[in-house]
Amino acid sequence: MNRIPYSEEFDLSVVHDLDELNNMAKLCIRCGLRQGCTGVVFGEGNAGSGLMLIGEGPGADEDRLGRPFVGKAGQLLDNILQAIGLERFTHTYIANVVKCRPPGNRAPGPEEAMQCLPWLHRQIELISPRIIVLLGNTALQYLIDPSARITKMRGHWLTSKSGIKIMPTYHPAALLRDMSKKRPVWEDFQKVSEEFKKL
Ligand code: SF4
Repeated sequence: MNRIPYSEEFDLSVVHDLDELNNMAKLCIRCGLRQGCTGVVFGEGNAGSGLMLIGEGPGADEDRLGRPFVGKAGQLLDNILQAIGLERFTHTYIANVVKCRPPGNRAPGPEEAMQCLPWLHRQIELISPRIIVLLGNTALQYLIDPSARITKMRGHWLTSKSGIKIMPTYHPAALLRDMSKKRPVWEDFQKVSEEFKKL
């Protein structure tokens, strides 16, 4: 399989299998992030659960292990999910806006996100979730509105054109820095839980 270079025509609508998309993404060199990371972190979980969580990008632990949300923020996310009766591998599929680690854990830049988003968009199409939880500003801004702020939008349901219910909330890493965000995140995930029970 050829690597996906920066300038190549990039039509992923012809890919109809999540594993095939994963294999293609692993070869991606569409942006500079790939040069500084260990590997592409595609995403994982139960693609048939109906619930998808989307974060910002891999951190150091995620880059090392090739899996999303496995560091401290990931452990906190696991705890949050457990508190509402969900187990991440059974009840969720988790991915990020960019699939390669930005150096120093900085937020991905607009060009990096633009190059990477086709992977996530096709991932969403193939998984076809009924509910998406956007974890943090980066996911909110690149998937909904570049001018949106998580502080204003969190806790309020949005609905995509295709009918997906979308809940923005704080990224678990933000909770690690500021525990005052714990209560609003708890309230947001309670809403997610109620909606998930309807699936
Ligand atoms: S971040 Fe995304 S677009 Fe950039 S190289 Fe990695 S997979 Fe490709």
